[in-house]
Amino acid sequence: MEVTNPDAIGLSEDPSEAKIRLDRCIELLEGAYGPPKRRRSDPVDLLVQTILSQNTTSANTHRAFDSLKRAYPTYQALLSAPDEEVAELIRCGGLANIKTRRIKEALVMIRERQRDRMGAIEGEEKQKDRTGARGEEEREGRGEVGRAERIDLDFLRGADPVEARDFLVSLPGVGPKTAAVVLLFAFQMPLLPVDTHVNRLSRRLGFVPAGASIEEAERILETITPREKYCSFHVNLIRHGRAVCRARSPSCGACVLAEICPSADGAGQKD
Ligand code: SF4
Repeated sequence: MEVTNPDAIGLSEDPSEAKIRLDRCIELLEGAYGPPKRRRSDPVDLLVQTILSQNTTSANTHRAFDSLKRAYPTYQALLSAPDEEVAELIRCGGLANIKTRRIKEALVMIRERQRDRMGAIEGEEKQKDRTGARGEEEREGRGEVGRAERIDLDFLRGADPVEARDFLVSLPGVGPKTAAVVLLFAFQMPLLPVDTHVNRLSRRLGFVPAGASIEEAERILETITPREKYCSFHVNLIRHGRAVCRARSPSCGACVLAEICPSADGAGQKD
């Protein structure tokens, strides 16, 4: 969307100026960290990982996720396992009982949505072929029959991004940031997740006004960031937030973004 009025997206400067600085920010961060590698991620894996990552470190998230994947070859198997057993496997990441409940409830809701979708597709096919026999053969050929047994989010592929986000945030423990992470990284949908690092740095860099809510920050950043750079901006801003522009002690003197940052040397006092 082309925006010409700064007030329309809550910026204190001309959006074209903000865009120029943001483009330069992406360029400088890619120079420092490289463009993020695109990895194919299973959407349900991503969802489970983001639930596991709540209130813990990346190292613990990976340990907990690896334990789950080793213990359960499928998400159906995880669903059938006793809660205490699952919680024990992910205890290293904290909040084990809550996360177990959230993961299982999310998987049940995904499976129900899959079954609804499969039921609707089968109903349409049977309408077309009144006997139902030929339609079933054709669906088997396309691998649709029996797919409901595998828990996946393939039904979101090609969906409207807002509807897809609405479905994901209806799952327990899934907020707008998690939904945007899954939809951006697994389906390449045009959503820009704003986590704590992206939020802090975007304010210090003056891309987002200090008083903006997370939803407003998302809207502003989605407007001024080139779509093909959502992933790069998100990933590299997080890297930079962890390594240099930390919450309490930003290292402005060693920062590659100092040339475009209005908060250089004053960020520590502003938070
Ligand atoms: S110059 Fe300072 S406040 Fe600005 S991005 Fe770098 S570390 Fe953060």
